[in-house]
Amino acid sequence: MTTIVDAHVHLDLYPDPYQVVRECRQEGVYALCMTTTPKAWDGTSILVGDAPRIRCAIGLHPQLAFERKEELPLLLRLMWETPYVGELGLDGAMPVETHATQRLVLTKALERADELGGRVVSLHSRRAAGAVLEVIEQHADRNLLILHWFSGTASQLRDAAAMGCWFSVGPAMLHSKKGRALVAAMPRDRVLTETDGPFAKVKGRPLHPRDARRACSSIAAAWDMSEAEVAQLVVSNFRRLGEYAVDRRTDGGP
Ligand code: MN
Repeated sequence: MTTIVDAHVHLDLYPDPYQVVRECRQEGVYALCMTTTPKAWDGTSILVGDAPRIRCAIGLHPQLAFERKEELPLLLRLMWETPYVGELGLDGAMPVETHATQRLVLTKALERADELGGRVVSLHSRRAAGAVLEVIEQHADRNLLILHWFSGTASQLRDAAAMGCWFSVGPAMLHSKKGRALVAAMPRDRVLTETDGPFAKVKGRPLHPRDARRACSSIAAAWDMSEAEVAQLVVSNFRRLGEYAVDRRTDGGP
């Protein structure tokens, strides 16, 4: 059986989340489960339970940052409990009056991550790649930052790679020629697969965490490697990320 890595998925948002978690356990899928609001943390932790290959990240999604800004203190408090943070970021497609709050939430969370000695952070940057890079730059040395579904320019990708950023890449992103061109330029030792399910869909169907495997064939084509080699590399990258996270676990945390 091939090992599957889904480094960015919203398990709590599937219509039958317990069923999806059961399937991930049965199929041995490694998953990083994002939360979109800090209030979802407890429920998502219960959902994931003791699944050995699934970890929960604590986040406040940029599309919710404005309406949920009162949850920022809860986010900062819960970040003590886990080395994984997400989903965070900036969304340039949201109304302009939300942008300052989005930036405030991202900045405060990254400052907290620095204070805690570093976190693994999964970042959204839709129509805001430049702004995200500007905010994360001074936190890049102290954290392991993953740009999820990156859709910026080739030069922004180079800047992010030079900063040490990681990238998580899903089947939906690889449907576009631009997405595939970006993947070709990504640092191979810092690439992971993801689905962004159930938000991300292919042919109208929400992606299941196991579908992260499908990204490997497009990545393989972009890198001129075999699909099996890519799958193996992604697993080894994910293990390195796990070692980073274990070193940053706070006593008493999961
Ligand atoms: Mn997401």
